[in-house]
Amino acid sequence: MAQPRILILGAPGAGKGTQSARMAEHFDVEHITTGDALRANKEMDISDVHDEYDTPGEIMEAGELVPDEVVNAIVEEALSSADGFVLDGYPRNRAQAEELEGMTDLDVVLTLEVSEEELIHRLTGRRMDPETGDIYHLEYNPPEDETVEERLIQRDDDTEETVTERLRVYHENTAPVIDLYDERGVLERVDGEQSPEDVWADVQAVIEDAV
Ligand code: AMP
Repeated sequence: MAQPRILILGAPGAGKGTQSARMAEHFDVEHITTGDALRANKEMDISDVHDEYDTPGEIMEAGELVPDEVVNAIVEEALSSADGFVLDGYPRNRAQAEELEGMTDLDVVLTLEVSEEELIHRLTGRRMDPETGDIYHLEYNPPEDETVEERLIQRDDDTEETVTERLRVYHENTAPVIDLYDERGVLERVDGEQSPEDVWADVQAVIEDAV
């Protein structure tokens, strides 16, 4: 079987990162994630393509979208060296979705569905261990080790103010991308409010059915 080409959609906080990491490992495909790529290039000078902001870091902190030309280039480059992949965090608007069409075909398009209330709860309670990159949640998944607990930090864009803006941007720009795949009849919906294990079982079944 050829390696699957998977697109995962869903709101910020829906669990795309967690499920994508599992897919990458299980199906032996590359995890292509624009959010991580942009965080690794936070200080890049993009003042020539944006009127208001100079770097991706400033845009992310405001909860806005980084210009299409920047993310399109990241994805095009990553796809050129990948056979199978799970694409996470892109496309975030219809223009990016059109761009993606010219870059590759997809075997599976799935979306994780989570209520607005739960998304806010998950995002504002999310914390990261700066030493390992491991993700925790203050309530759902606190670290057992007190030393780890003390050094946890919040992602710059997980504050309540930025989360509200990220969700607004999601509804305005990214929800129409989900509608697009839905209208084409290729969208698989997974209930993202289950436990991570149950979500993973459904995700795996959807992919195995499709390829
Ligand atoms: P994420 O880790 O996917 O939640 O992305 C974090 C932030 O990175 C987003 O709020 C955007 O500012 C930026 N970002 C990630 N992916 C994209 C994309 N495809 N288009 C524009 N901005 C993006």
